[in-house]
Amino acid sequence: MSSHIARHLDEVRQRIAKAAAAASRDPSSVALLAVSKTFPADDVRAAFKAGQRAFGENYVQESVAKIAELADLRGEIQWHFIGPLQSNKTKVVAENFDWVHSVDRLKIAERLSAQRAAGMPALNVCLQVNVSGEESKSGVTPGDALALAHAIAALPNLKLRGLMAIPEAAGSLDEQRMPHRRLRELMDSLRADGLELDTLSMGMSADIEAAILEGATMVRVGTAIFGARDYSH
Ligand SMILES: *Cc1c(COP(=O)(O)O)cnc(C)c1O
Repeated sequence: MSSHIARHLDEVRQRIAKAAAAASRDPSSVALLAVSKTFPADDVRAAFKAGQRAFGENYVQESVAKIAELADLRGEIQWHFIGPLQSNKTKVVAENFDWVHSVDRLKIAERLSAQRAAGMPALNVCLQVNVSGEESKSGVTPGDALALAHAIAALPNLKLRGLMAIPEAAGSLDEQRMPHRRLRELMDSLRADGLELDTLSMGMSADIEAAILEGATMVRVGTAIFGARDYSH
């Protein structure tokens, strides 16, 4: 039933290794986040059995149910929230996730920090940046990223790890590389300004290679591992 998942995971790992080699990078410098949104807990379990440990989710209700179903793996699985986050959902996310990649305003970050339970390790966060400048996309503008990053880095229960982007789909490898390069250059400039960042969360099923060539340290891959998503039910 879910044997395709182990096979697909292998294929994705090979794509990562090949792209890392092409970029003269150590393949272990690129972490794989398996995006399991819309797929059942059993599929997460199949990927876990095939050695995958980090999983990304977009929808709060769906993910909390899945995390509960997989409670026996707690401590071994890492959960990353990567979807749009409204302020009335921050508490559930602060209590259930290890990472949030989609922070794009201070109010959300402040709530996550305040609602992170005492005794839990700091919540790892990435700032989502709108590198393509699309009106409809969430994310802070590149021009506002530095001030927001400094404000978030000062919050007690968060650890600002880096930047995340979801670039517009593009055809050729060169076109795909451009927005990823802009995100990497932005991260370089934040680091030059004293922020200690180590994570560039970019690259999805269609553009893993372009993202790795431009320095991605974490690729977020759904379709190429779990298959096409069905939103009809
Ligand atoms: C769904 C999603 C992904 C995975 O996309 P695929 O094209 O299925 O690999 C990655 N990142 C974010 C933020 C997503 O919402």
